[in-house]
Parts: sequence; structure tokens; C-alpha cells
Amino acid sequence: MQPPAGALGPPHGKTERMSGMELHQNFIDGRFEAAGGGERIEVLNPARDTVISAIPDSSPDAVDQAVAAAKKAQRDWARLPAINRAGYLRQISAKVRENAEEIARVISEEQGKVLDLARVEAAFTAAYLDYMAEWARRIEGEIIQSDRPGENIFLFRQPVGVVAGILPWNFPFFLIARKLGPALITGNTIVVKPSEETPNNAALFARLVTETELPKGVFNLVYGRGGTVGRALTRHIDVRMVSFTGSVETGSKIMADAATNITKLNLELGGKAPAIVIRDADLDQAAKLIKASRTLNTGQVCNAPERIYVERKVADEFVHKLTAEMKATRYGDPLGDQPIDMGPIINKAGVSKIKALVDSALAAGAEAVTGGKVADLGQGNHYEPTVLVNCRQDMEIIQKETFGPVLPVVQVDSLDEALALANDTTYGLTSSIYTNDIKTALRACNELNFGETYVNRENFEAMQGFHAGHGRSGIGGADGKHGVLEHTQTHIAYIQT
Ligand code: NAD
Repeated sequence: MQPPAGALGPPHGKTERMSGMELHQNFIDGRFEAAGGGERIEVLNPARDTVISAIPDSSPDAVDQAVAAAKKAQRDWARLPAINRAGYLRQISAKVRENAEEIARVISEEQGKVLDLARVEAAFTAAYLDYMAEWARRIEGEIIQSDRPGENIFLFRQPVGVVAGILPWNFPFFLIARKLGPALITGNTIVVKPSEETPNNAALFARLVTETELPKGVFNLVYGRGGTVGRALTRHIDVRMVSFTGSVETGSKIMADAATNITKLNLELGGKAPAIVIRDADLDQAAKLIKASRTLNTGQVCNAPERIYVERKVADEFVHKLTAEMKATRYGDPLGDQPIDMGPIINKAGVSKIKALVDSALAAGAEAVTGGKVADLGQGNHYEPTVLVNCRQDMEIIQKETFGPVLPVVQVDSLDEALALANDTTYGLTSSIYTNDIKTALRACNELNFGETYVNRENFEAMQGFHAGHGRSGIGGADGKHGVLEHTQTHIAYIQT
């Protein structure tokens, strides 16, 4: 039995009723606020095509109020010892743990990821907030030698002020923590704008915040479209840093808007990750892990392998194994009664984009050994798990981000050729290589022009690493020490005694 559409709601933050549907309210200065007039945006369950809630496309006034609240709260927040700020982060992580099952169901319903992965997302979010809290005693300045007698030069690490966190839909709950955790521990306050596709989990996050003692104004939430709320935040004089995760196209627009006030940027953008399979690789392991990375969240992960370069000598054997893995992938409704490995694509536009790229590859000579078309389950947005062979470097499917369960395979004659083709891209987020030769692995790590390389493992980063793209995949990065320091600015004091 499937739960009826919307049966999970309204579990979220404060909502008002609008013709039978829950309309979320912004969370500003510690209060839920109705956004007033303006367009209402419906939120759909992508597995069932049903409307599950709605958000306002908030007015510029709401953005002004949220930024003003964050600015007002920031001075006292920054004056708190970092260890006290850490205490509030731990209060939030405790609430996330207590409510993990509800969070997972809300994520699954609006975003479409399988429930087990949504549970991992909730647990990882709590762990991430705790990890960021641990930085409280580790943020350090410097004392620099002076050229003058009796002078001290101190370098302080200070907060940048108000941060705007603009989010995508693919790991929507975790990304709140990835923006909020490092921003708050370093003394900034934040205004979050969730994706229009996945606001329900953010509303739930706001409700959990109200159950903690976090001072008002430190975390604010404003709903709306990118072109209105996102732009208003980016162009706001009092927003001193925009931390954005999303597409290259939007990142580029945000850069242009941030130029207005010379606003600091942290951009986590799209990718076109190559996976290289060398003849000495464990082919079973390579097929399993590449499939696992590509079908996780239905291929809607920025760092998942998007194109495979396999040495010709082992290509047939590898493709055979990969095809068996992809064929065995079950898909459907994550909250339905059948066990599945993969949920729906986020929306109809996502399916159309995948279809256009696969169709164009097929027309240019590629062959689908499994999948290759839209899946009709009677409802929802589904695309068949797909393996494409006879692909060439000049095909769109090799050049453009697909963001779906599709693996195009290109045969190569050598490691040199694989590295050259892998680097032949304007993206530079992640890459992977499967080999049992340490020299080959190290050469790949040295020569792949990407922010991350995974050797003999699935593409999934650790919170203590540094997730950052080269090229058009971004500026700055998240996680670990370097991610924390991104949220600070330096201040030098020259003290003559
Ligand atoms: P998107 O760029 O369409 O939207 C992301 C957010 O930006 C949304 O909240 C949207 O409302 C907002 N937005 C849109 N136009 C805006 C504007 N002009 N000004 C300010 N904000 C604006 O991306 P998406 O479809 O939500 O997410 C998928 C993309 O995100 C993929 O390209 C994926 O690779 C990328 N992504 C990257 C990472 C990473 O860590 N590098 C992680 C997850 C997703």
C-alpha cells in the first residue's frame, strides 16, 4: 500500500492553509512570517506527480527583513566564544538525530531519493554539524615577525558577516548544514534560500531550530525563485558572502550579480566526472562501484561518474559486467511498497534533458546495450538505467552534464589517451580511476585536472576533506579546514609598543 499523496504533511515548519494545500511561511528573526502576496509555487512529489505543498515567491521586502535580522544578530553572535556557538550547533544536531526518520521521509517524498539514502542524508547532516562544532577550538590566527623593533603584527581570522546560502535540490537537507555549519561556527549569520523543488525539508529544519536555543536572527529562511529571492540576496549590500551550490549556468549569473557589491563567493557547481578503467583493474569492483556511484540518487549527484574511459583490451568484459549491474537496478516510487534502488528524476525537465542527450548520442552512432529511453511507470519522472557504447569524445553526452542514470563508454588505447580525454572538458569537479598499479594511480592523481580523484572507490567525499572544483566547476570549496576558513576574512593589526 502506498501512503496517499501528501500523507506525510504537514510535518514541517509553520504553514498556512491555501485551498487545501500547505503554504510554508518564511522564518525570519526567530519567527515564522507569512510572505504576503505574490506568486505561489507548488511543490510536487516527483514519483507521483502530486502536489504536496506550496511556497511563496517572497518579495524583496522579505529578503530585506531576513538580511536585516541576520545583520542585527551577527555582532552578538560573533562576540560569543566559538565554543558557545558550537553548543548551539550541537543542539541542532541532537534535534536532527531525534527526528531523523521524519526528516528522511520528507526528503524522500519531495526529492525522490530512496528512503535508506534519505536516512543517510539525515544522519550525515547531524554528524556534519557536530564536526563543524569541533572547529570551535581550532580556528587560529597568526603572529607575524615585524621589521620594526617593538612592533607586533597579528593576523586575526574574522567572520565575513551575513552569508546567503542558496541551495539546489539534490541533497537539500545536508546542504543546509554544509552552508550553515561553517558559517555559524566562524561567527557569521545566515539567510538560506532552498530550492523551489525541495522546500519541505528546510521548513522542517526551521521547526527544529525553534526547538533549540539558537538566538533569533542567526538562521533565517526565505522561500522563492532564483530569479527573485536568489537574485535579491546576491545583490544585497549587507550580504557579504554568497555560498551557492547548483548549476554552472546559475553560478555564472550569481558571479555577475555579486559584482554589484564585490560580494565574496563560494561556488559549488556542476561536473562531468570521468571514470578511467585500466586493463589491470579489478573489473568486477570497477563495474559495481561505477554503477553504485551513478545510480545513487538516480544519478543526480554532482560528483558521480558521467563518462567512462576503458582500455580497449578489457572493454568488452567490463561493459558486460557493467551492463549486468545496471540492468539489475530496480527503480520506482521510494515510498511505494516495492523495494527499489533508485527513485525518480526530480522533474519533467530533468527527464527531457537526459532524453535529449541520449537521443543525440544514439543518432550520432552510440548504441544502448541496456536502457536508452524514458521509463513509463504510469506516474512520476523515470529514466531507464542506461549503458551506451560506441561513444566518442565529440558527442554531447560526453561533453554536457547529464544528471541521470546514464553511463556512456569510450574505448581508449592507453592511460595517456584516457588522461588526455578525461581532461578535455571545461568542468573539473571529480574524477576516478580503477587500477591495481600504484604508479598508474599516482600518475592519474598528479595529472587529472579535477578537484577530487577517487582511486578504486565510489565517488563520495568525506566531511574532513575539501570538496572544490577546478575550471567551471566552481570557486572555493566546502568541508574540512579549508572549507571552514572560506567563511572567514583576515584582519591584520600592527601594534607598535
Ligand atoms: P540550479 O542552478 O538550477 O538552482 C540552484 C539554486 O539556485 C536554486 O535554489 C535556484 O532557485 C537558485 N537560482 C536560480 N537562478 C538564480 C539566480 N539568478 N540567482 C540566484 N539564485 C538562483 O541547480 P539545481 O538544478 O537546483 O541543482 C543541480 C545542479 O547543482 C547540477 O548542475 C549539479 O551538478 C549541481 N550541484 C553541485 C554540487 C557541488 O557540490 N559542486 C552539489 C550538488 C549539486
